[in-house]
Amino acid sequence: MRRTLIAGNWKMNGSFSANHTLLTGIIAGLPANDAVDVLICAPAPYLTQCAEVLGDSRVAWGGQDVSAHTHGAFTGEVSAGMLADCLCKYVIVGHSERRAYHAESSELVAQKVLQALAQNLIPVVCVGETLEQRENGATNIVVAEQLQAVLDVLSADQLINIVLAYEPVWAIGTGKTATPQMAQDVHAFLRSQLAVKNAEAANAVQILYGGSMKPENAKELLAMADIDGGLIGGAALKAMDFLAIISAC
Ligand code: PGA
Repeated sequence: MRRTLIAGNWKMNGSFSANHTLLTGIIAGLPANDAVDVLICAPAPYLTQCAEVLGDSRVAWGGQDVSAHTHGAFTGEVSAGMLADCLCKYVIVGHSERRAYHAESSELVAQKVLQALAQNLIPVVCVGETLEQRENGATNIVVAEQLQAVLDVLSADQLINIVLAYEPVWAIGTGKTATPQMAQDVHAFLRSQLAVKNAEAANAVQILYGGSMKPENAKELLAMADIDGGLIGGAALKAMDFLAIISAC
């Protein structure tokens, strides 16, 4: 049985004071049972603040990107070792905003996945199609290609150590959400692709949905057989909304 993971992706938002309010609000409102895994992916300068505030809670924290290199002359980049130093458990890799604004190829994303795994971080690997690709009927081709680049560098045993996130680009920050069935179809397809590599692991890997998930649509989406959680942007910036999504599981 796969556990549900609700992950907040703060993107480039926050300040020490706003984060403190948000994080303490989330901790205070968490359901008493620990049926759902909860994760906050914060901007790198705030990861030590996450460690301080979330340290004793059951909320994990992680980065939003990681370098494909271990160390050296890569100004501005953050290595997996540095994220591990900040006690991160996860890191988002290959978010569509990185792919679009920083020209990250699927091959580069795959190298980042390897860096994360080498530091025992769980990479949350994002895949997703644009609106044009969906309208052209290319959704499965696009996500399969993005996933395959990662599968190509992993051993069958390593598959169990990743989380996958299906984030249709046209649904991110737009208020448009994939219908539960649309999302489920892609999730089931992704799982079948994972199964080619390792059937047992494919069954265990969490596949999150991301793209305008909010309290009003979370329950329906999370009820689908292959949707194992959410990667949440906008609605993760308000404790009340984020907690409502956690409660919808
Ligand atoms: P959104 O972002 O929830 O604001 O659509 C999701 C994401 O990009 O991870």
